[in-house]
This record gives sequence, C-alpha cells and structure tokens, in this order.
Amino acid sequence: MHDDLKKIIESSENIVFFGGAGVSTESGIPDFRSENGIYRAWSDYGRPPEEIICLPFFKRKPEIFFDYYKKNLIHPDAKPNRAHMALAKLEESGKLKAVVTQNVDGLHQKAGSKNVMEVHGSVHRNHCVDCGAFYDLEYVIDPGNCENQVPRCKKCNGIVKPDVVLYQESLDEAVLAKAVGYISDADTLIVGGTSLVVYPAAGFIDYFKGGKLILINKSETQYDKKANMVIHESIGEVLGEAVGIL
Ligand code: ZN
Repeated sequence: MHDDLKKIIESSENIVFFGGAGVSTESGIPDFRSENGIYRAWSDYGRPPEEIICLPFFKRKPEIFFDYYKKNLIHPDAKPNRAHMALAKLEESGKLKAVVTQNVDGLHQKAGSKNVMEVHGSVHRNHCVDCGAFYDLEYVIDPGNCENQVPRCKKCNGIVKPDVVLYQESLDEAVLAKAVGYISDADTLIVGGTSLVVYPAAGFIDYFKGGKLILINKSETQYDKKANMVIHESIGEVLGEAVGIL
C-alpha cells in the first residue's frame, strides 16, 4: 500500500495523468513497440512495426498495412482496468483535470474519462482519404466494408484511414498544445506505463512546473532521478489502491 501516494493525491488540486502502452497492457493489449511486438512483426511481415504502420507504407501497401493494423492495433473486446477506472474517478471528484495518453484504444473514455488528449490518435475515429467521410471502428472491422482487408468508403470507394498517427506522419499540433497547457498548469503530474522514450513523451515532462512528479512504471526510466516518487509496480494495482477501486 502506498500511503504516501494517497496523501499526495489527497493534497493535490490539479492532477494531470500522462500514460503510455503499459496502461493498456494490463487490459490485455500487447505493446507492438515491445521486444516481443518487434519480433512478431519481423517474423510475420519481414519488417519492424515502424516500417509497417508508417504513412508511405500505408499508401504503397494498404492490404498489408491493414492486415497488421487489425491484428495488432485493434482490440475491440478490451476492457478498462483499475488504472483507467481510478483516473475516471479522480476526474469526477474534480482533482484530475486531464488524461494525456499515447494509447489509441479509447479505454480511458470507456472507463468514463471525459477530458482525454490522445496524442497518437484513436482507432475509433476513421476518415475517407478522398472525401473525408467519418467512420467508426465497427465500420472498419466489418469485412463487408473491406476489399482485401482495406476498408472502403461507402460514398466514394476511397480508402478509410484510421486517425492514428503513423510513423512519418506529424502529430496533431492542437492536441499537443492542449496537453502541454494542462501539464504546465498541473500541481501534480502522474506518469504511468511509459518508459518515456517514445516521442513526444519525454518532452512533455519538461513542461511540468508543479511540485510533485510521480512515475509509475514497471521498469526504470531516465526520469526516475528527477521524480518525487518512483514506483516500479503495476499501474492498475497502484492507482486502484490509491483511489479505492476494487
Ligand atoms: Zn469517401
């Protein structure tokens, strides 16, 4: 039990959470950037993930892109875990002002979080590259809407592209600016489930001016020395306990 963490949360008035893949792995969503994920991409597709889910490859080989994408980035049955639920509860109580996430699975919203900045986009939003028509996740995974795995727009037959930020694609400046704004106003920043190496993760921490930086990650990060509190345990268990989620 981390009573010290509980005390910090109780005394904070403006908490921001910044999370990475580790938050979702506890919901059974494997990290495609992990060692295992990279190995699988090489053995199944002959190339690393960053060469598949990148913009030029999407344009050149959409069939292979969507085959990989549907098998590795889409997890429609995944459910929020205690970390997601704890954060939703903290937002409801008024203490937590925003969740900034690198995950694209929408689990924070599923748990009830309202103010979520998805810096790498979301699998739940998709647009036709030609006419801009919007489609949800169900449309994209329905084989009836796809040709060779590639989802097609029902209005113009254009390719439907997920609003997931691909490699070699720029991040949404408006989302980034909003995230930076919340982080720089926060009195407590909880960083969880990220090794802080994926862009733009590391840069975000530099904007934090508050008093309490808390890192919760199973392995060490380069920011451990800068943090006021470091916990190398399961984020779901730690946050769940601290906020009282069973
Ligand atoms: Zn279209």
